[in-house]
Amino acid sequence: MNNEDNARRLDEIDPLPTLRGEFLIPPAPGGPYEEAAYFAGNSLGLQPRATARYLTEELADWARFGVEGHTEGRRPWVDYHELLREPAARLVGALPHEVVAMNTLTVNLHLMMASFYRPAGERTKIVIEDSAFPSDSYAVASQAVHHGLDPAETVVRLRPRDGEEHLRTSDIEAFLAREGHTVALLMLGGVNYLTGQLMDMQAITKAGHVAGAVVGWDLAHAAGNVPLRLHDWDVDFAAWCTYKYLNAGPGAVAGCFVHERHVRDASVPKLSGWWGTDPAIRFRMAPDITPPASADAWQLSNPPILALAPVLASYEIFDRVGMEALRAKSRRLTGYLAARLVPVRGVELITPESEADRGSQLSLRVPDTRGLVQRLAAEHGVIADAREPDVIRLAPVPLYCTFHDCHRVAEALTVLTAQQD
Ligand SMILES: *Cc1c(COP(=O)(O)O)cnc(C)c1O
Repeated sequence: MNNEDNARRLDEIDPLPTLRGEFLIPPAPGGPYEEAAYFAGNSLGLQPRATARYLTEELADWARFGVEGHTEGRRPWVDYHELLREPAARLVGALPHEVVAMNTLTVNLHLMMASFYRPAGERTKIVIEDSAFPSDSYAVASQAVHHGLDPAETVVRLRPRDGEEHLRTSDIEAFLAREGHTVALLMLGGVNYLTGQLMDMQAITKAGHVAGAVVGWDLAHAAGNVPLRLHDWDVDFAAWCTYKYLNAGPGAVAGCFVHERHVRDASVPKLSGWWGTDPAIRFRMAPDITPPASADAWQLSNPPILALAPVLASYEIFDRVGMEALRAKSRRLTGYLAARLVPVRGVELITPESEADRGSQLSLRVPDTRGLVQRLAAEHGVIADAREPDVIRLAPVPLYCTFHDCHRVAEALTVLTAQQD
């Protein structure tokens, strides 16, 4: 059987048949196939067909009810965010009152740091990974400045060993054992946006706590990609965006997790707004806040319903399929793609080889990154993304990517890298 037939057969026999039909797949910008092979779901996930209905229903209720839609709509807006609570909790392995849908990712990281980054005495440092997403770097540096500290001294960037691509858990643990008394906050990405490395969140959280630090996770590339157990892992806080693996659309409303032991603790300082008071008495319009013992206490504003509707549409898909089944399919797809990429000349895989240490994303070091990504699209209808200076990222997202898509990108890269010689 040739590679293409084999890929089609793998699609037919897979225990989790593709849900591609539930998504709007962009047309191929070029090449022999009608639909794109879309590998940029780690950057912006594709649109579920259901999203339009969820949105038009809210528009219709607004048209019909005006302000009364807050209470009379089919999904009343005053507690619309409640609809997302249970699905979000299942997605990240949280108790329902530990999660809330609000704001965007970087905003949530700042709100979390306002509560949980409390530099004092010699314990002032914020530890991130050297290859952190820029927004995270800017956010932690600005938090240091906000506290009157010098970011150059306050922010510690963990680097892999010379000649290695990934942080070793044991090195992070050794760092914390050595320097942990100076660390106020450890805040890493659950899955690294550049290399695709999946961190051992449980072990690292534990090591951070042993060192006396607060441990928060940026789950931008982990939520909807790998199963999470935030409550059991004893994570202090976490935040994630919903437009990557979660397919809720550009700039969609993010998620936030605060561990139960903090939501119960009224002494945790917060930046507050009217949506963070007890909903039962919110409309008494009292001057003093009465925060509930839940992550809702961190809400500031009444949420953007038109931006939450796509998140609800997305969470319902994840709820129906389940993260365990998705992760199992993700391993099969990513494993297949990795095996097909190994023989391609001029392509170096920088994502961990072990399935336990990666999610969907495979990152490749290639020459002429931008040119390659353009030609993948224009000549082969394959959508990938480039990260300066020399990495392209491919995410065979298990909801809508197929083995045949993986075949297409492997073939396309084989052709294009041969031409580069
Ligand atoms: C995508 C991403 C962001 C983006 O932040 P927004 O506030 O949603 O714009 C931040 N951090 C990481 C690690 C990301 O991958």
